[in-house]
Amino acid sequence: MLFKGVVFRLDSGLPADARFLLEDFRLAVNRATRAGLQARVTSRNALAKLVYKSLRVEHPKMYAKHLVCAFEVAAGILRNHRRRVNKGNAKSIPYVKRLMMKAENQAYKLDRVAGFVDLPIRAGCHVKLGLVMSQYHRRYLDDNTLTLGSLTLLPDRVIIAFRKEAPRAYTPESALSLDTNERSLDGVFVRGDDGVAVKADYSEVAIIQQRHHDRRRKLQKKKSHDRRMARLLCRGEGVREHHRVDYRMHQVANAVLSFAEGQRSAVLLEDLKGIRQKRGKYLNRRLSMWPRRKLHQIIEYKAAWRGIPVIKVDPRYSSRKCPICGRIQDSRMGTEFKCECGWHLDRHVNASLNLLQTAVSEGLEVAGGLRFDPGAFQHDVMMILYEPAMAARSEPNGMSHAGAM
Ligand SMILES: [Zn+2]
Repeated sequence: MLFKGVVFRLDSGLPADARFLLEDFRLAVNRATRAGLQARVTSRNALAKLVYKSLRVEHPKMYAKHLVCAFEVAAGILRNHRRRVNKGNAKSIPYVKRLMMKAENQAYKLDRVAGFVDLPIRAGCHVKLGLVMSQYHRRYLDDNTLTLGSLTLLPDRVIIAFRKEAPRAYTPESALSLDTNERSLDGVFVRGDDGVAVKADYSEVAIIQQRHHDRRRKLQKKKSHDRRMARLLCRGEGVREHHRVDYRMHQVANAVLSFAEGQRSAVLLEDLKGIRQKRGKYLNRRLSMWPRRKLHQIIEYKAAWRGIPVIKVDPRYSSRKCPICGRIQDSRMGTEFKCECGWHLDRHVNASLNLLQTAVSEGLEVAGGLRFDPGAFQHDVMMILYEPAMAARSEPNGMSHAGAM
């Protein structure tokens, strides 16, 4: 089952009844969290056994299903906390500060035509929440193959989870092999015996990250007398950075996948599992800053949703091997890959050719009848799948881009 969280803004303010519900829900979550910490339990059922009765007394009118959902949220918080404790970086006792509530799919109604949510508050009391809708939102509301999952209510918006069975991926007719780098995806698009270089350029992401990094540094210096304020401001910076980077990664993924879908391509990515990051302070920061794994996650998830086949390939030697003669170079310095046999090509594009060759030699279903010969590669053509200018358009209001997929 695949999930996609879609964010809807509320078309008017939050009704008072709903605000009270949010406050009660937060209270219930925090109570359950504390009880769970004391009793060392992390499952929803155990929490329910532990505090259902006392919470029932405290919130006699609260819709029972909401209360159960509060246990689920608390259980999630407790599990995250335990993970942090195990890793040794739990700083404080977990506590929900912002107003939020979650409702199971049986605990609310969505009018998919008119676009409003009917949320029960307590016996005999419901609120109607009007949703701001765009074309993007209509796509999900109008698609009847999508069923509804949980709903998350925040003071100014709701997030509705849409669900569907993973569609069967199509049989690929061509291949799009991509090497993931700090500033771009570089690769080849191959159909039959033709191949061209492709590029999705997100160099802006590195610039954004550098800018936010510098700004955080400056803030820390400026507010060195007030560490609390420095932390607060830095956190704000971090959230903004996250939104901006995330937005671009989703755009890159969409651009790449739309191209692949149009060409009925299989998308080849290097399998990043098990790749250890290099040591060294400077390099370490640079590499960890660029969330390559996150980009792969986004691409894989969106591809699964759209039925686009994705193939993960072992990247061993992909950056050092010659696809013509098979020689393996000692180092991989320089922007161009050069081999004794005379072959030379952009280093990143060369790596993607190797990924493609590995996939074919391992018998993975890349594309039927792929007879591509790297020697026939067109060096002079470069197809741009994405470039920073494409992000210049303003972000559509209420679109989901932050973490919610
Ligand atoms: Zn060679």
